[in-house]
Amino acid sequence: MKNNNTFVQQAISLIGEIIPDIVIHLDSEGRLEHYYKGQKDVAPEQLAVLRGTQIHECRKFVPWAPKALLDELTAVVDRCLVQRQRSQLSFKIRWPDEHAPSYYFDLRALPVEDQTILLVRNTTSERLLEEQLAISERMASLGTLAAGVAHEINNPLTYIQCNLVLAMEELDILREGGENASLDEIQRSLEIALDGTQRVAKITKELKHFSKVSEFEIAPLKIKDILDSAIKLSANEIRHRAELIVRYEPDLPHIYGDPYQLTQVFVNILINAAQSFDEVSVDDATIKISVKYKELNNGILIAISDNGVGMPSSVLRRIFDPFFTTKEQSGTGLGLSVSHRIIHDLGGTISAESSPGEGTTVFVSLPCSNSLAGQVSEPELTIDSPKATQAKIMVIEDDVMIQNLIKRILDHHDIHTYSSLHEALRYLDELAPDAIICDLMLPGENGEDLHDYLLKNKPKLLPRTLFITGGVFTPGAELFLKAVKPNLLTKPFKSIDLMRHVDELIQCTD
Ligand code: ADP
Ligand code: MG
Repeated sequence: MKNNNTFVQQAISLIGEIIPDIVIHLDSEGRLEHYYKGQKDVAPEQLAVLRGTQIHECRKFVPWAPKALLDELTAVVDRCLVQRQRSQLSFKIRWPDEHAPSYYFDLRALPVEDQTILLVRNTTSERLLEEQLAISERMASLGTLAAGVAHEINNPLTYIQCNLVLAMEELDILREGGENASLDEIQRSLEIALDGTQRVAKITKELKHFSKVSEFEIAPLKIKDILDSAIKLSANEIRHRAELIVRYEPDLPHIYGDPYQLTQVFVNILINAAQSFDEVSVDDATIKISVKYKELNNGILIAISDNGVGMPSSVLRRIFDPFFTTKEQSGTGLGLSVSHRIIHDLGGTISAESSPGEGTTVFVSLPCSNSLAGQVSEPELTIDSPKATQAKIMVIEDDVMIQNLIKRILDHHDIHTYSSLHEALRYLDELAPDAIICDLMLPGENGEDLHDYLLKNKPKLLPRTLFITGGVFTPGAELFLKAVKPNLLTKPFKSIDLMRHVDELIQCTD
């Protein structure tokens, strides 16, 4: 026994020298024999206080520690002391008292012969480092997002501004009777400016996928239809780079989704796969699509793999971050982040596996819509030309530019504008409008307030009310839209869309 003890003692001092935290040696009765703190022995007077203490009595030294934690620690130590089994626990404690900041520890209890060693490692700095890393990764994504938005929008903005200035200068010359002014030049400048606004609109439209609510229609769909159209749309990119192999399991159930959004997801993934062959030469460049039913989660699993360049883990980790791209010229870095948002909103998942030099597989899983299978109907598209009936319309919008724009677009109607809901409601009875157009977010008020008011006081006006929105919603507005499903038009809108919506409002029968 004595020899044995010396051996354990020696072993512990060795461990104590390697591990910079705490090593506690308990004898066969679970009494504290020795403890080592840091890389050296504890001062003898400190040890004297604790020596011989039964490990369970240690509670009295830390009366402030939470009871639940002490119970857990006791259980871990007992598993070693009584059952002679290794056990371990990671825990957090405010040290040295309950008012101090949190420290993290790992405790391992090891049986050695008939005695016990407790190894305690302070993992606080590792934890903090991990947290910091996670925060800085998130900040990096946010930074990339901000920089990306600024970059993408500033370019078109620059040529919108320049071309508008050019057009105005030409107009000035024209007005002053200058002979060098050219109507063609003015038209060209305006066309370029218009093109710029379309580019900005496209970017904000893509960004909108990041906010939860979408204005898309969710319906049961056949995955084959979606993949077929995605393949058609990306055929040009794929054809000269790789061979495409597609395998469908027979009798696949329907899935849920919006056909345009889902097609966009698979186009994004297929184009990425095609582009993975751009910087490597592969003999048998192949893109494989396989579609299977997964009984486990009643879903469809679509795997799209390429044997292209692949990605190191540092890239793979960030592919779903908005604006993260490794393609200097051609990339926007939005493809996969937008796809991620779309798939998640449908209750599905998207993930990727990749190894450099071997290739990449992207997995998309989508829940099936068994109950609705077979009810898929072709969407009907009817376009009525705007009618020229005159109506009295109340416009509630705080942005004067938008007020003026609505007035110009709807100039054949009788438009009355108000900058706040409060003001508008005061005139509602007197004006007795045929329709209302209201911004969803007004300073200090919102569309929901108007909706509640109308519901209580003028329910017939509700179907004649159109909300307009910038497309980014507060959680409150999101709930309102989901619950009420009001008439909604998203900015930036085209004049024709506004006219069409207003026509619908006016023609609405009570
Ligand atoms: P983009 O294609 O505009 O760069 P994505 O969001 O579609 O943006 O993709 C982000 C990044 O993920 C790409 O720049 C690329 O580095 C990486 N990536 C995505 N798919 C693949 C793939 N199949 N093979 C290799 N890299 C890929
Ligand atoms: Mg892409």
